[in-house]
Amino acid sequence: MTAEPGTTEPESARSGSAGPPSEQGARSGPSRRGLLLGGGAALLAGSAAYTQRDTLRRWWWRLPGNEKPRKEGEVDHRGAEWVAASSANWRRANRPDDYGIDRVIVHVIQGDYAVALKVFQDAGHGAAAHYVLRTSDGRVAQTVRELDVAFHAGNREYNERSIGIEHEGFVDRREGFTEEMYRASAKLTADICDRHSIPKDRRHIIGHHEVPGADHTDPGEHWDWERYLRLVRAVPPRSGAGPGAAGGGKG
Ligand SMILES: [Zn+2]
Repeated sequence: MTAEPGTTEPESARSGSAGPPSEQGARSGPSRRGLLLGGGAALLAGSAAYTQRDTLRRWWWRLPGNEKPRKEGEVDHRGAEWVAASSANWRRANRPDDYGIDRVIVHVIQGDYAVALKVFQDAGHGAAAHYVLRTSDGRVAQTVRELDVAFHAGNREYNERSIGIEHEGFVDRREGFTEEMYRASAKLTADICDRHSIPKDRRHIIGHHEVPGADHTDPGEHWDWERYLRLVRAVPPRSGAGPGAAGGGKG
């Protein structure tokens, strides 16, 4: 768990003008010459808008009326319990339309499930993952929606492209990583990979310690990657599952 450095958003996100091209002059309005001048002005305005096209495309959902519909309590992984993290610990986004998702990042909390849920709800914590997994019974809590950017990797680019999973436990306690936990986590990761077309390999399913610039060591040397990847690949793909297909699941 690490705060994301430099999380302030570009000013252009807020200042981008997105109004529709101005209407041409009314029938009874200006002379022909006036219309031509008006047309030139409209063209200039149009090209200015063009230079902002990329910015607008990335931030379209911030514009009035473009908010992506979300339902309170909705989850992306079927069966997960929704326990909302403080909005200070993640950034609203519209993935994968604005940022592609191609990584799952595995974390170990250095604490227990309840502690993780509590700190994620703390606005001062500055970090949260998308999911928290309980070791004893494999229970999964979703704390940030997958379309949003959670601050978990300590690297802005990796936060934007990844989904983070926190596991209850300690990096130096192998016995804490139970079969139950590996199986539940593998099911979750396989589901994420299937829904976002992420390859189930070690290039795309990585540990926090493998994030460039990360000063964290989790999940640590006791995390059994071979076993984990085997379990992830063994999960049968859910029939008919697609982005958003798992919405609303509870319990
Ligand atoms: Zn971590």
